Amino acid sequence: MRLNPDPIAITDDDATIRNAVASAVPAPLLAAIAQVTGRLELLRDDLRPDPSNMLDPTGGLSPAQVAEIQRVAVDALIDLRDSGARAALPEAADLARLIEYLAGGTVDPAYVPLLREELALGGDERSPSWHRREVAADRDFRVLVVGAGMSGIVAAHRLQQAGIDFEIVDKNTEVGGTWWENRYPGCRVDIPNHFYSYSFAQTNEWPSYFSTQPVLFEYFRSCAEAFGLMPHLRLGTEVVGAQWDADAQRWNVQLRAVDGTESTTMANAIISAVGQLNRPKWPDIDGIDQFAGESFHSARWDHDVDLTGKRVAVIGTGASAAQFIPHVADAAEHLTVFQRTPPWLAPNENYQAEIPEGLGWVLRHVPEYARWERLWIFWRTHEGLLPAAVVDPEWQPQDRSVSALNDMIRMFFESMYETFVPDEELRAKVVPQYPPIAKRIVFDNGVYFQTLCRDDVELCTETITEICEKGIRTAGGAERAFDVIIYGTGFQASKFLSPMKIEGVGGADLHERWDGDARAYLGIVVPEFPNLFLMYGPNTNIVINGSIIYFSECETNYIVESIKLLLDADASSMECRSDVHDRYNDWIDAGNRSMAWGASSVNSWYKNQHGRVAQNWPYSLLEYWQQTRTPNPDDYIMR
Ligand code: NAP
Repeated sequence: MRLNPDPIAITDDDATIRNAVASAVPAPLLAAIAQVTGRLELLRDDLRPDPSNMLDPTGGLSPAQVAEIQRVAVDALIDLRDSGARAALPEAADLARLIEYLAGGTVDPAYVPLLREELALGGDERSPSWHRREVAADRDFRVLVVGAGMSGIVAAHRLQQAGIDFEIVDKNTEVGGTWWENRYPGCRVDIPNHFYSYSFAQTNEWPSYFSTQPVLFEYFRSCAEAFGLMPHLRLGTEVVGAQWDADAQRWNVQLRAVDGTESTTMANAIISAVGQLNRPKWPDIDGIDQFAGESFHSARWDHDVDLTGKRVAVIGTGASAAQFIPHVADAAEHLTVFQRTPPWLAPNENYQAEIPEGLGWVLRHVPEYARWERLWIFWRTHEGLLPAAVVDPEWQPQDRSVSALNDMIRMFFESMYETFVPDEELRAKVVPQYPPIAKRIVFDNGVYFQTLCRDDVELCTETITEICEKGIRTAGGAERAFDVIIYGTGFQASKFLSPMKIEGVGGADLHERWDGDARAYLGIVVPEFPNLFLMYGPNTNIVINGSIIYFSECETNYIVESIKLLLDADASSMECRSDVHDRYNDWIDAGNRSMAWGASSVNSWYKNQHGRVAQNWPYSLLEYWQQTRTPNPDDYIMR
């Protein structure tokens, strides 16, 4: 996959241009064209999206406004074709004007530097501003990055840019993390790819709006290759344990290769980029080992099991199951889906759609469109959706929705259920009895609903009491016979960094300290564990607003700046102060209590065994970006 491609000069006729423009999203299209032509007068006030109607896919633009934007865009592209004159990158004032057009009005100035980074019009805006040779040329400092998935790749890339010595180890025999491990049929990303990609490594080669697993894997592999990371990789190697050596001020690390060979290494700092969603969770159901047929977990899909003509059971209806259930139904003779808690399904007609040829044309000739569309997604559906999750304490009934805005979303979703599930009995089973955004929302373009409506598919909502030799028994005693059971039962998300045994200052055991309730300052650092930096750590997951890649880029910035702090101070270790850590976590907990996912009693993988929301970040994307700009030395004990 080519990253950051140059634009291809336009040579097509007017009709091709007109056809292409029709498939682009109007507001980001106009912003992109105004930027590449330098004609900011195209951003007319009467063509601005409506900031109060950002849930609408066009941002509340009327059909007449959309038609006018398309007319203006076609004329400007024809001029661009004929003149070939592309404008220089916009100056700060012009950039602010472009951003304000897209946002439909004034933007809080605090956002502008963040949005500029996200846009990355001039290239990588987040690369380190320093290099080791200027800061500590004579100092050896070695970092071990654990995990070569999405987070590990960006961390290693930034270390390389800063001239820091590093090695990446991964238990898998390939890079890509979750996008290598999850190979179930139908696996695809559920954040649009122009946002679910690194800000500094854009491509116009996404075949779909929401690409499939093989494409995502190819993207991350292309990034690892393009960033020159392959020589630094030790694949098929798992970190078993690590101990902080206070005298030597470094980590001693034990590794185990896939062939069982054990070895050790040392690092001045460790970056854990092991992800949260990679250790399959098998449900705690009696008799799970009794089943005589085939069974496997979605994250370890057994492609050797042919489902054709089989009676198949799927346990779970989360984001993974909703993606593979339609494929299983197509192959199996009969499918029974065991649903414990229905997810809220959100309509998205582009969810499985390929990028149309016209839009592909726009992306090839005006690659900046992808960047403006990225910003559009960021502003409209990520930062813009967060208020819909905030609890209004006065609002009743809270088990239906948590605020007037949240209720509006509920009604919007419910209307889709009425369209797609005409059968009232089935509809009663699939409409959730908890507020939207209290659990992860699952996208559907109608395919999942249609699958549940099939004659050869049963949705069973009875509680599973036992797995027997021949099938599954539910409350009431009924037993259904199956040839195959597929577990779409999620991951051991709360067991951060498991099963690694990490021992910090004085032999403090990380998992004992956490006792099933993982916490970290900024999701990144933990008292008593100096020079250990976590990515996708506690409370850095988002429910609706944003992409994990955004968080990984912020975390990487903080970690690389922390290493600079160490080198600048000629220190060998930094350990987060416990009062700073505790105060921060109180603030996080208060934030989560006021969000739909914290206030609702519904079960979800966001809550740990103690009922605390250990996964989610409850504040804005801007807030996390601001907090991870620069480490504050006062937050640390430096040695
Ligand atoms: P999940 O959301 O944790 O879903 C697990 C499912 O299994 C739930 O429906 C759960 O029911 C059910 N379950 C668990 N134990 C059960 C039991 N004993 N009996 C009956 N049902 C049981 O896991 P996931 O679907 O793998 O998704 C996890 C996360 O991965 C997602 O939320 C998302 O963040 C990420 N993901 C993303 C994508 C994407 O980008 N496209 C795709 C897949 C996953 P309850 O709801 O009642 O607990």
